[in-house]
Amino acid sequence: MPELPEVETLKRALLPLVLDKQFERAVFFRPNLRFPIPVDTLTTQLPGQKLKTISRKAKYLLLEIKTGAMLWHLGMSGRVTHHPSDQPQEPHTHAIFSFKRNIHLHFIDPRRFGAILWIPKGCGHKLLDPLGPDPLDPTTTGQILFDRAKTCKGPVKHFLMNAQRLSGVGNIYACEALFEAGISPRRGAHRLSKKNWDHLLTCLRRILEKSIAAGGTTLRDFFSTNGTPGYFSIELAVYGKEGEPCKFCGATIERIIQSARSTFFCRTCQKK
Ligand SMILES: [Zn+2]
Repeated sequence: MPELPEVETLKRALLPLVLDKQFERAVFFRPNLRFPIPVDTLTTQLPGQKLKTISRKAKYLLLEIKTGAMLWHLGMSGRVTHHPSDQPQEPHTHAIFSFKRNIHLHFIDPRRFGAILWIPKGCGHKLLDPLGPDPLDPTTTGQILFDRAKTCKGPVKHFLMNAQRLSGVGNIYACEALFEAGISPRRGAHRLSKKNWDHLLTCLRRILEKSIAAGGTTLRDFFSTNGTPGYFSIELAVYGKEGEPCKFCGATIERIIQSARSTFFCRTCQKK
């Protein structure tokens, strides 16, 4: 499933390709993915409009034009490829967005949990409005997380993975960041100090950026391995390492279940 680093990489790969380019047309091959696609609106709004920017909120991408934004979500199996042809090149191509100069973005999603939606300018959206701050947004600070955690009596691991508290952090990245910060996944989120949150956010950013760097910087890099975006292969310290020795202290990495999800951690290193 595409995670935040994959979506951020897709954004960074698409920007030099289509920024300031004019949409020529949008063609849809089915009326719905996870939600109905606003086909009439998009085929009316997009043609002739310049793509002003692409922004990311959690795992959503927003392709912004003058009158609003097209929202993409890759769901479980979605991906976007760039092809010189405006005809589908492989099965499960559900939409093709064509720009001038023969640039065609193919939206492919075998399991169809993805989404293509439209947000008129100045409007919110029910999928985006409840989301907490994004860890890679430079305006997100340890102070903001500290304030948001004051009323959160649950474990810090829950906080990290609750999109309404902090958006876009998956299980792997939550486990790895807590390990790097030396914070126990079971510690109450409200008991972390401002300094703890500063450090945890720094660790989280470092791991996400490392993963983004592993993904490459072009669409070609992004989809080079059998065309499927998966987890970028960064070296993991604890995730999936139950029973193995901790790389720092040699103690055994443990696995516990928190909210029906596995948490991997080192009892010795994660005492904060
Ligand atoms: Zn350890």
